[in-house]
Amino acid sequence: MRSRYTHLECHECHTTFDISIPQNYCPSCEQPLLARYDYTSSIDRSVLKNREHSMWRYQEFLPILDPSNIISLGEGWTPILPLKKLSRQLGIKDIAMKEEGGNPTGSFKARGIAMAVSKAHELGINEFCIPTAGNAGSALAAYVAKQDGIAHIYMPEATPRVFQKDCEIMGARVTKVQGSIKDAGIKMSKDREGYSWWDITTLKEPFRLEGKKTMGLEIAEQYNWELPDVIIYPTGGGTGLIGIWKAFQELLEIGWISHIPTKMIAVQTKACDPVVKAFHDKSPGTEVYENPKETIANGLRVPKAFGDKLIMKTLYESNGYAVSYSDETIIKRLEDFARTEGLFLSPEGGAVIEAIYDLRDKGFIKPSDRVLALNTGSAYKYIENLL
Ligand SMILES: *Cc1c(COP(=O)(O)O)cnc(C)c1O
Repeated sequence: MRSRYTHLECHECHTTFDISIPQNYCPSCEQPLLARYDYTSSIDRSVLKNREHSMWRYQEFLPILDPSNIISLGEGWTPILPLKKLSRQLGIKDIAMKEEGGNPTGSFKARGIAMAVSKAHELGINEFCIPTAGNAGSALAAYVAKQDGIAHIYMPEATPRVFQKDCEIMGARVTKVQGSIKDAGIKMSKDREGYSWWDITTLKEPFRLEGKKTMGLEIAEQYNWELPDVIIYPTGGGTGLIGIWKAFQELLEIGWISHIPTKMIAVQTKACDPVVKAFHDKSPGTEVYENPKETIANGLRVPKAFGDKLIMKTLYESNGYAVSYSDETIIKRLEDFARTEGLFLSPEGGAVIEAIYDLRDKGFIKPSDRVLALNTGSAYKYIENLL
């Protein structure tokens, strides 16, 4: 088991950075840094055979150099559930769902935060700050508690109370901020002046992406190295979308897959859909979405993602698509789906199911397609929103 991690690289100017020094983002481009690996010598897929079933089984593809630095609460290796009734109903060959709601603290944010906190631990960092719509905060509070570190968490006032409470129970310092996650980020930046808090805002830190990348590695393995034709992902800051795509590129490079047929679909909420607008304008990045409305899909209320250019690049490179739906539509679909398949999804997951119907009607999803939907979080943290 040995990591192939070699350097960090700005995705825009391609400047490289030393991995032994903590880096946030490219200081000249103000763009995300990507972890790069040396895959020139081959690795046999059989190395996976006797490894533990968690996201850490892909050690070669991950930035942790010494596995003893891993801080784990049992994240990853989530199930892919066939949705047979839905497939039949829609006349589509194969629809399945990767159910991320069973991750620690109830969402796939655990993957990114576990990686970020573990890597920070390896670099000697133990005080963190983050703006969050809820789930990232819960995850940070948990992993930092396990690390014996300190977490400063900034969340919008409208975040369901359960998120504030569980962060506080796990010992984090929580500040509520009027406005959106963007305003929470601005307040956080002011408060951290003069302190050495490690900022792990989505994509302003390179390793949450590497944690989310493990979803793509798992998908490839769970599909027996024949990727699905369509992946539908609820997009806020975009790390999942970008991470899955990054995983596929790396698997192609090492030769574990032979081609990438997958179209990546970003799903947003009508309350805040900067990616959808940019996609229809064929723009390389998004505008700031002014005055985002309230929505039950908190995780998608991101007016301007720091990784917007990487989100758009993923959609264009994969011949993907972007769509958004109203809360009303999402709730209806969520209920209907729960009664069909027995899965109670987060609102973000409900939006993803709606996209399957919509994209089939638009002719984008074909009857012969293998479709993978992601449910990114547990419904049970959103009861307050649904009441
Ligand atoms: C954060 C979050 C999202 C958005 O994820 P990104 O990777 O930031 O795009 C989607 N769903 C849930 C439940 C979330 O918590």
